[in-house]
Amino acid sequence: MSQISFGDFMTLPIKNQTLKTFAELGIRADLIKGLTELKIITPSEIQCEVIPKLLNAKIDLVGQAQTGTGKTAAYGLPLLERINPKEEVVQGLILCPTRELGQQVAKQLFKFTKYTDKIFTEAVYGGPQIDRQISALKRPTHIVVATPGRLIDLVSREAVDLSHVKTVILDEADEMLSMGFKEDLNKILGFLPDVECKWLFSATMPQGIKEIVNQHMSPNAYRIEVNPKNVMNQGIEHQYLICEEEDKLHVLMQFLKSEKKNRGMVFCKTKAATDKLAKQLIAKNVATDAIHGDLKQKERDKVMRAFKKGTLQLLVATDLAARGIDIEALSYVVHYQLPDNEEYYTHRSGRTARAGKEGISLCLITSSDMKQLRYFEKALNIGFNQIRQVR
Ligand code: ADP
Ligand code: MG
Repeated sequence: MSQISFGDFMTLPIKNQTLKTFAELGIRADLIKGLTELKIITPSEIQCEVIPKLLNAKIDLVGQAQTGTGKTAAYGLPLLERINPKEEVVQGLILCPTRELGQQVAKQLFKFTKYTDKIFTEAVYGGPQIDRQISALKRPTHIVVATPGRLIDLVSREAVDLSHVKTVILDEADEMLSMGFKEDLNKILGFLPDVECKWLFSATMPQGIKEIVNQHMSPNAYRIEVNPKNVMNQGIEHQYLICEEEDKLHVLMQFLKSEKKNRGMVFCKTKAATDKLAKQLIAKNVATDAIHGDLKQKERDKVMRAFKKGTLQLLVATDLAARGIDIEALSYVVHYQLPDNEEYYTHRSGRTARAGKEGISLCLITSSDMKQLRYFEKALNIGFNQIRQVR
C-alpha cells in the first residue's frame, strides 16, 4: 500500500472504490513506464471511469470534471492507444482554450510516450508564430493540439490536413466558449470527415456546451461526472522535517534563505503564535506580517495589498484568515504548527502550486507529531517525503 500513496497527489481518498492500476485499465506497459517516471501510479477517479470505456469502443463522451482531476491522461492515454505511429497523418485533434494549456497538454503527451514508438504531437495557438507553426506541421505529425481560432487559420492556409482525424477532443470546453470560440468550434466539428470519436471535457455545463453536445455528438454519448472533491492537488510536494520545538525558527530561516526571493505562507494554529512568529521574523529582517481574525478588515486589506504587491515576501497566517486568499505563484507553504484536521491541511497546502505550478508544502514537526502526519497521509491519500535538512 505504501507504493500507492507515494507520489500521488490526490487530496482526498477515493471511497468505496478499489484502487486499480493502469495495467488493469488496459494501458500498455510502454506507456505505463512513462507514467511511472511522472509519478503517475494510481489512476484517478476520472481515469478509472473513462480509460476502459475509451479503449474498448468508438464512443462519444461528455465528461464534467474540475481542473486537477487528471483529465489529460484520462483522454490522452486512450488517444495515444488509438494512434498508428506508422501512418504519418494527423489522427488526433485536441482543442483547448489557451496557448499555455495547449503547450502543457503537448508536453504531457510527449512525456507519456517516452518509451513508446515515436508519436509526434504539435501544439499550435494564436500569436505571432504562424510561419513557424506552418513549417513545424510539415514534419510528420500524429496529434495536433490547437486553439480553435488558430486551427481555422491554418486549415484555410492548407497548412494542416484534418481529413484523417479519427479522434477529436475538446478540453476545457466551457473556457473555449467563454473565450468566444463557439463558432470556430462549430466550424471545426463540422469539417472532420473521418472522425469516429468525440470526447468533450468541461468543468461546467452551460447552455452553450449543451448545444454543442446536441449538435455534434452522438445521442448515445457516454456521460460522466466527477465529484469535485476528487481533485488532484497539482504538483504539491509534501515534505516534513523533524526538529525540536526550539529549533523551528532556525530551520524556518534556513528554509526561507533557500527559497531566496520566492513568496509563500507560514501557518500557525493561534493568533498569539502567528503574532509572535511574525515579530521574530521581522526582527530577523524578513519582510513579513501576520494575518488573523483579530485584525480589522482595513488592516487585513493593507497586509494583503502589501503581500500582493510584493512588499511583503511572506505571510504568517492562522487557518481561518487564509480562507479565500487567492494569490498566484506562491512557491511554498510552511506548517509551523500542524493544523487540527486534514481539511485545514488541504486548505493550507492548496495555497501553493496553483494554476499548474509546482509548490512545496513543508511541515516543521517534532517527533510527537508523526502520528498526526501519518493520519493526514491516510486521510488525504498523499505521501510525505522526509527531508533531513534544508538545502
Ligand atoms: P486536469 O486536466 O484535470 O486539470 P491534469 O491532467 O493537468 O488535470 O493533471 C493534474 C496534475 O496531476 C498533473 O501534474 C498530472 O501530472 C498529475 N496527475 C494526473 N494523473 C495522476 C495520477 N493518477 N496520479 C498522480 N498524479 C496525477
Ligand atoms: Mg486539463
